[in-house]
Amino acid sequence: MKSKDWREQGQEKYLSHVEFWKTKYVSYKDILEHDHCEFCWQKFCDLTLDKDCHKIGYATKDKKRWICEECFVDFKETYNLINLSLSNKEGV
Ligand SMILES: [Zn+2]
Repeated sequence: MKSKDWREQGQEKYLSHVEFWKTKYVSYKDILEHDHCEFCWQKFCDLTLDKDCHKIGYATKDKKRWICEECFVDFKETYNLINLSLSNKEGV
């Protein structure tokens, strides 16, 4: 068994085999203007003035769960994350 990463907090319960799309961040509801990466808790936001937050990431279809690009690469195999954006044009 390889040792667990600090970012792993039981996400396998709800992220295993979940489909993700690489996309520009958009909040799923009006009152919430930011979300956090499911693993490293890095912030996602759509405010162009905030340089500290991600603008691009991997999101579930309902846009309720977000994973940053770095964590997606690190954990896609561990959690069997499904990258549906591969069939689309890559790169932004
Ligand atoms: Zn992350």
